[in-house]
Amino acid sequence: MFEPVLLRNIDVPDGHRLPTYEAGGGYRALAKVLREHTPDEVVDLVKQSNLRGRGGAGFPTGMKWGFVPKLADKPKYLCCNADEGEPGTFKDRIIMERDPHQLIEGLAVSAYAIGAKTAYVYIRGEYVTAIRRLEQAIAEAHEKGYLGTGVLGSDFNFAVHIHCGAGAYICGEETAMLESLEGKRAQPRLKPPFPAAAGLYASPTVINNVETLACVPHIVMRGAHWFRGIGPDKSPGPKLYCLSGQVRKPGLYELPMGIPLRQLVEDHAGGPLPGRRIKAVIPGGVSAPVIPEHGLDVAMDFDSLAAAGSMLGSAGVIVVDDSTCMVKITTRIIEFFHHESCGKCTPCREGLNWAVKVLRRIEAGEGAPGDLEQLEMLCKGIFGNTFCALGDGAAMGLRAALKHFRDEFVTHIEERKCPFH
Ligand code: SF4
Repeated sequence: MFEPVLLRNIDVPDGHRLPTYEAGGGYRALAKVLREHTPDEVVDLVKQSNLRGRGGAGFPTGMKWGFVPKLADKPKYLCCNADEGEPGTFKDRIIMERDPHQLIEGLAVSAYAIGAKTAYVYIRGEYVTAIRRLEQAIAEAHEKGYLGTGVLGSDFNFAVHIHCGAGAYICGEETAMLESLEGKRAQPRLKPPFPAAAGLYASPTVINNVETLACVPHIVMRGAHWFRGIGPDKSPGPKLYCLSGQVRKPGLYELPMGIPLRQLVEDHAGGPLPGRRIKAVIPGGVSAPVIPEHGLDVAMDFDSLAAAGSMLGSAGVIVVDDSTCMVKITTRIIEFFHHESCGKCTPCREGLNWAVKVLRRIEAGEGAPGDLEQLEMLCKGIFGNTFCALGDGAAMGLRAALKHFRDEFVTHIEERKCPFH
């Protein structure tokens, strides 16, 4: 039986308040690093833990911290990506609503490690409860000396500011988020320079996801060895999985990284709805290519899912049963990406616009011979040719749907209607 780590407080009454967090050992990790460790030692500890970013890319967190120049003549910044715009994903919201001090302690320890005195939490504007609770938690932490000047009597000064996003998916892309924080239109930046060298206000900046930061105090208290002992060695640790779609028990599950997708969906989430069978699962938010039912024995970690032609992404697991039309789902997903495209580069802006037109035609029973080849040609033109990962994600998803559920697309074209209506 796996004991929750990140979600241990979510059902505790007043789990979002400071006394509850302190009663469960909260802020001891911050006190420990300030008392016993140099910043470099904290970076080394996180490197040893092999914590990989939970926002989607899976980049090693300690290595990312290590890229920040030690002798910068500018202030360093820590930015928390709490925009969580990937459809099917709600794990960061739950942490911020139910246990915000866990994030604040993670921010404080991480800022100490990289030498930052200021952190920004870029939070999705619709997350009203999470915003209020984070504001309350920041005020509580200030009052008890966990934030502010001379944290816990040390010479470490640290402030956390909240910045509310205005609802653009592209702000989840780290450099677009930095543009938005600076008050500009949110469009991705050309890299290099990478944010570790020139990020917010052209200063060294680390950007970490909420779940990633929430792991840090636990690594400090329990050790890198404990963290690496959970799940596969290359992608270790506890992991939050968001289950939604046509499944009996949707919700947020904390389980080891690397759990088989089939076990997650059929055992933990209760399997398909009565009388139905699972047709497909999108394992990591709508950017992740769909996996047909016969592929569900794949392990839920970065490397296994990549080898299977998909990705862990945000671990937003969307279950699709046999009553649902894959053409319809694919059209809605590509419409979403088209709507959220920032318009900066042509393959994404024009290619997705074109793909939406073809998909809508097929869905309406007005498809023509050659439409599927045209969609494949569009995927080829978008993939690898765009400025950021939004275009790639859309193209990969469309390609996977055409590959695994081609028969449904063909039926729509040949029968000139949707067979699911
Ligand atoms: Fe913008 Fe799309 Fe280009 Fe990304 S891929 S920069 S979202 S137009």
